[in-house]
Amino acid sequence: MIKQEAGSLPLWYFQNLLNYKEICHFVSSRVGGFGDQPYDSLNLGYHVGDNPETVQKNRQRLALSVGIPLENFTFTRQVHGNKVKIITADLRGSGAFQENTAINDADAMVTNIPNICLLVLQADCVPFLFFDTKKKVIGVAHAGWRGTLRKVAQNTVKIFMEKFCCSPDNIVVGIGPSIGPCCYEVGQETIAEIRKVFRNANKYLQQENFQDKGYFNLREANKLQLIQMGIPERNIEIAHLCTKCNHTLFFSHRYHPVGTGRFGAGIMLKNPEFF
Ligand SMILES: [Zn+2]
Repeated sequence: MIKQEAGSLPLWYFQNLLNYKEICHFVSSRVGGFGDQPYDSLNLGYHVGDNPETVQKNRQRLALSVGIPLENFTFTRQVHGNKVKIITADLRGSGAFQENTAINDADAMVTNIPNICLLVLQADCVPFLFFDTKKKVIGVAHAGWRGTLRKVAQNTVKIFMEKFCCSPDNIVVGIGPSIGPCCYEVGQETIAEIRKVFRNANKYLQQENFQDKGYFNLREANKLQLIQMGIPERNIEIAHLCTKCNHTLFFSHRYHPVGTGRFGAGIMLKNPEFF
């Protein structure tokens, strides 16, 4: 990823996605917003206990900085599941101004409609941005350990293929800032779940001398799922930015377990006349 100042905010961009003028995308940080502790400062989540007016001001600042009207921002209520919602024009702006209009029970969205900015929110979980360069289809997904074991990233690719006739060869993916294998300690119960789902769990799970804890590499586990769906490895860019190590830049639930904000990752297809 590369960092650039956009308007009044530092934003992060995937180099592979910057190659396509048909889309705009971004990853925000916790820097540059209006919030007080523990949501300081650019919290984008209404659901974490922050003052809703502050969240709205933060979202407006982000919208201005990326040059996309806030009415076009579209959110789901993320539940660590594996459901993917196809976003039709009538859903544009869901959850943009209040939590209760967000789309229920989905951790991923896909659309081929221009001017809908799909966003996922996180504080340690892995954000994904997808773009099919031929069919002009975009998607987002969000995965913590539950979403990873439930294969939300694979389900998102399935929707690209089944509903939009996409070929995985043409899908470019950015895997954003998230808790790294350096910091993502998991206990016995989670380890048992991981071993149930991944036959090759040792590739993503560092467990010294089979103690009752280990370190889970969410990014690599998800990257493998994408490759298994047929996405070429060269199409996948991983941000090696750990949210816990970089807790002054990004919100980290593990660093601030009692409460923290959420940063966002978004992608939008531009109007064809602006390609
Ligand atoms: Zn770390």
